[in-house]
Amino acid sequence: MNKPVSVAIDGPSGAGKSTIARILAKELGYIYVDTGALYRTVGYAVLQKEIDPQDAVAVESLLPHITVSMGYANGEQRVFLNGEDVSAYIRTPEVSMAASTTSAMPPVRQFLFRLQQDTARQNSVIMDGRDIGTVVLPFASVKIFLTASAEDRAQRRFLELREKGMDVTYEDVLADMKERDYNDSHRAAAPLKPAEDAVLVDTSGNTLEQSVEILKAIILNALKG
Ligand code: C5P
Repeated sequence: MNKPVSVAIDGPSGAGKSTIARILAKELGYIYVDTGALYRTVGYAVLQKEIDPQDAVAVESLLPHITVSMGYANGEQRVFLNGEDVSAYIRTPEVSMAASTTSAMPPVRQFLFRLQQDTARQNSVIMDGRDIGTVVLPFASVKIFLTASAEDRAQRRFLELREKGMDVTYEDVLADMKERDYNDSHRAAAPLKPAEDAVLVDTSGNTLEQSVEILKAIILNALKG
């Protein structure tokens, strides 16, 4: 078997990482790994146990009592908490915020590290997150840092949430996004930042098709070289 290919896509929330990565994974025949869903699963577990997400000691002591795993159904990634499929419960604003808070804690990052690395060792992957190119897969064949203006990203996330029937306002989504961006880029553990060898792509004003083509060209070019 050929050595699996790893494509790392990092960037702030709402830059289009997951939508673009999902399409490209299908086209290239790789597995799409949404690592944010894993951090969301931990955030969900914390809320379910009525633990304050800021309480690092309580969060850390929960970890030995839970298992987080992932699988694929009809080509879609599902996430499991203690064996139960919780994919439908992890997209709420409360879980987003709990994920952002708890993901700053080194024990939480450590807890999810092996699952991410093992998945990339066993499969060709397009993995998206915040620290994939810098920490999880520093030897990825291709690293892309995807960004867009906060307004563009909030608008996309707002439409996504509304489509799912959630009662949110654009202003709230923008405020949440700015807070999460701040948390993600200022934490001590694996902060959001481009790897030194990442290709930077700003998707502001692009259509989805344009962004997909840009990333595809970057990936194919890097794999050729
Ligand atoms: O990507 P998504 O917005 O679903 O991620 C939810 C939260 O999980 C992010 O705000 C971030 O704090 C955290 N996360 C992380 N490292 C990753 C992926 C997500 O810290 N690799």
